[in-house]
Formats: sequence, structure tokens, C-alpha cells
Amino acid sequence: MASESCDVCERSVRIAGGIGDLWNFAFESTQGLTLELTDGSEFFLCFDCMERLPDDHEPTAEDVADLRERTEPVEEDGNHFWHWR
Ligand SMILES: [Zn+2]
Repeated sequence: MASESCDVCERSVRIAGGIGDLWNFAFESTQGLTLELTDGSEFFLCFDCMERLPDDHEPTAEDVADLRERTEPVEEDGNHFWHWR
């Protein structure tokens, strides 16, 4: 399972990658994705942070930077990412 760190909260986020992950797909699907902004910049965000982006307009790099400023970076290994763990 590959992982990437969220550009906002810096959590390590699991992403699906490779055929081996198909086995786990139902339970361990991707927890974040790369957000491509209208200005061409790209950020990798976990779903938590993505939900916190403004939804009344297309998110911009400024929105991501702003969200990042309001978010405390967390240090964890990703194993406690979901509440039900
Ligand atoms: Zn995040």
C-alpha cells in the first residue's frame, strides 16, 4: 500500500497503488487524492481536509494555503487515521 502525506495536515494517507491493493479495495480504499486546481497547481489532500475546503467555489491554491494555516500538522503513522480503529 502506497502512502503520501497530505499537503494540509501532513498526515500520512494511504493511497491505492498496484494490483495487490485490489484485494483490500473494499476495506482499504484510497483515503485521499490529488486535487488539480483550475490554476494548474496540484495538491495531495486527505478526504478530511478536502471536506474543509470551501464548497461554494472552485478551490484555489490560496484556499489550500489558508486551510493549511488553520490546520495543526499532526504527527502520526497513519494507523489511527480512521475513528473506528
Ligand atoms: Zn489532510
